[in-house]
Amino acid sequence: MSDIQYPAYPEVKLYINGEWQRGARDTAVINPATEAEIGRLALASEKELAEAVRAADQGFKTWRKVPALERSKIMRKAAALLRERAESIAAIMTMEQGKPLAEARVETLSAADTIEWFAEEARRTYGRIIPSRSPQVRNVVLREPVGPVAAFTPWNFPINQAVRKVSAALAAGCSIVLKGPEETPASCAELVRAYADAGVPAGVLNLVFGVPSEVSNYLIAHPVIRKISFTGSTPVGKQLAALAGQHMKRVTMELGGHAPVLVFADADIDRAAQLLAGAKYRNAGQVCISPTRFLVERSVVQQFTDAFAAASRALKVGNGLDETSKMGALANDRRLAAMERLVADAREKGAEVVTGGERVGDKGYFFAPTVLRNVPANAALMHEEPFGPLAPIIAFDSYQEAIVEANRLPFGLAAYAYSRSAATVARVGNDIESGMISINQHGLSMPETPFGGVKDSGYGSEGGQEAMEAYLVTKYIAEGT
Ligand code: NAD
Repeated sequence: MSDIQYPAYPEVKLYINGEWQRGARDTAVINPATEAEIGRLALASEKELAEAVRAADQGFKTWRKVPALERSKIMRKAAALLRERAESIAAIMTMEQGKPLAEARVETLSAADTIEWFAEEARRTYGRIIPSRSPQVRNVVLREPVGPVAAFTPWNFPINQAVRKVSAALAAGCSIVLKGPEETPASCAELVRAYADAGVPAGVLNLVFGVPSEVSNYLIAHPVIRKISFTGSTPVGKQLAALAGQHMKRVTMELGGHAPVLVFADADIDRAAQLLAGAKYRNAGQVCISPTRFLVERSVVQQFTDAFAAASRALKVGNGLDETSKMGALANDRRLAAMERLVADAREKGAEVVTGGERVGDKGYFFAPTVLRNVPANAALMHEEPFGPLAPIIAFDSYQEAIVEANRLPFGLAAYAYSRSAATVARVGNDIESGMISINQHGLSMPETPFGGVKDSGYGSEGGQEAMEAYLVTKYIAEGT
């Protein structure tokens, strides 16, 4: 690993009213692959937060009047800039977050696709005319931007969690104060820079970092802010939704999951194991839609476990800047500690570790791709979102048993199933309580398709037409002559 080239890591500043600025305080950014400090991040105090809100207030007044076609052109330019800069942004993302360079590139390039999709939607926020009861009256329905938005995004996808919120808000004509992820701030700041360089006017898009609870308490309560969007854990989401409720703010919540995977005996077992291993270890399992509880029909559980464990063992774990690494470090020491705790707890309760189960090396937050079997229902891993590279495999004997287990937890974000039976595919689609279900294939997060959960996984959608809805309000005008 000694021949790895480390690119320069930028000093990360706040972006308020069109200016990059230092905050009252700053903090260190750590490379999770080396545990070394790689840079400093500016943190906002109440003074900078107040400036950001003032800027967003003014910015909204400007931006809502910019014609949709013009907003769309600026957004397309931001997408083009992201593509041009993808290589350097990906390296920065890998240094601060840990994921392999190939994944960081895909994240940056797919963010450009997301911006373009929302740029197109900006031009389609149609209202409607409702037939009137009187020839003297015209019933007009307008869709208007909701107002200045406060958005909070986490560290697992530093650009992609932010780009959905920022792009939907800008497409709708809203201004936004984004609180980016303090642990992975520079690549998120590069998204904002692309928008700024593309010509988004001062005040329309503002970026802050800080102490998360201080920032959210300030922004959510502030009367200028009209809409809240949060991606992160369910406990924090519940706190923020409660606060937003006190202030009558509209909310989108994209929270945790614990995705069940149903593998039926009639599936192509080896293909399912290959695809699922790819999905499980993407971003080292730190993905809200990561496949988590592997429920496999008993007659094929051995075959599936062998194939999945072989794919897990074959994965090269290492520094994401090394192009041969297929899985990088976990993003922070909390995840490493959580993996050790969840595996120890499962073992103590009778689970067997088929492969992995421990930290890799003693520098950097690397944890081995881990497969467990015979994990009892009372193990923490079977209730708590692992957000890491752990795959518990459990056998089931009947369709009904699998569905009951799939729906057992309060989460309902993503679910997966593999079967060659059209009848089973249709039943699973109907019976699983989940915002998204992917059957016999992987790929749930496209800009044009809805993305969101039910139950404790939150509400609202971050993709498809539904994502625009969240940033629009409806106005009815009865126009008399
Ligand atoms: P955490 O619960 O402390 O934080 C989760 C996210 O919320 C972070 O981005 C954090 O900065 C933010 N946050 C925390 N308190 C906040 C507040 N009061 N106001 C505004 N933002 C706040 O835990 P963590 O250790 O960072 O992550 C642990 C768990 O969070 C994971 O196990 C996973 O379940 C969940 N998570 C989910 C996603 C997702 O994509 N849905 C992303 C990151 C983390």
